Amino acid sequence: MINRTAMITGASRGIGRVCALELARTGIRVVLAARSLDKLEEVAAEIKVAGGEAKAVLIDMSSPDSIRGAVAEAQKEWGPIHILVNNAAITKDGLALRMKAADWNSVLQTNLTGAFVAIQAVMQGMMKERWGRIINMASVVGEMGNAGQSNYVASKAGLIGLTKSIAREIASRNITVNAIAPGFIETDMTAGLSEELKAKMLEQIPLKRLGKAEDIAAAVKFLASEEAGYITGHVLDVNGGMYM
Ligand code: NAP
Repeated sequence: MINRTAMITGASRGIGRVCALELARTGIRVVLAARSLDKLEEVAAEIKVAGGEAKAVLIDMSSPDSIRGAVAEAQKEWGPIHILVNNAAITKDGLALRMKAADWNSVLQTNLTGAFVAIQAVMQGMMKERWGRIINMASVVGEMGNAGQSNYVASKAGLIGLTKSIAREIASRNITVNAIAPGFIETDMTAGLSEELKAKMLEQIPLKRLGKAEDIAAAVKFLASEEAGYITGHVLDVNGGMYM
């Protein structure tokens, strides 16, 4: 198998962590990026124990300099990043009427601008390699809308537009750009929701269960694979049928 390197943002926990474990299992070297270096080191250790290759780098997706620095650090040791999984994101929910500018800006800066800067930072290396996979973690709400999440939803809908535009720009270099739109997945991000709200969400899911990080990791593994080489500009729904 060809030696590939993947960078996964938000790999310290939740979906990003499981995606990193899954990619590492297929023999891909993984660069784990987030703000909590201690947690990243734990994930890296888990991967190494299982026989994989992993490296933890500090990244703050709200800071373009930090993103460029983290990509440069990873590339210095391992060469070009072949697979970028733009997974890190935050929420700062609130109704639009009362939403503070700071909460709007920080969510857009981290989730959308951060993803764009990360793409810019890895693009040249992928172009030189004439091979690349960019996978942006959107959300079902980026397709449906969601009351109380206008900032987060705008960032996720923005990611879908970004995915399609970059896909058109760099397809000729054999780089695919796709988005995954998870439904309701059990992680820290959704742990705080009330049981009542969870039960309500469940009613809207034909497959009658909440998603697991593993459901998303399987989609990431596929889109990162050789076999997915003819898929670009696509939004892959992994949502139990919640939105079709
Ligand atoms: P999570 O458990 O809250 O984890 C978020 C990850 O992002 C953490 O690793 C966190 O690490 C990292 N992160 C947050 N802010 C960051 C920053 N400024 N710089 C660098 N890293 C940052 O979230 P999750 O549920 O796994 O979600 C992963 C992705 O799936 C997100 O894009 C989310 O929008 C999307 N998604 C999730 C669901 C769901 O139901 N869970 C549904 C649809 C879409 P540190 O705190 O260590 O930095």
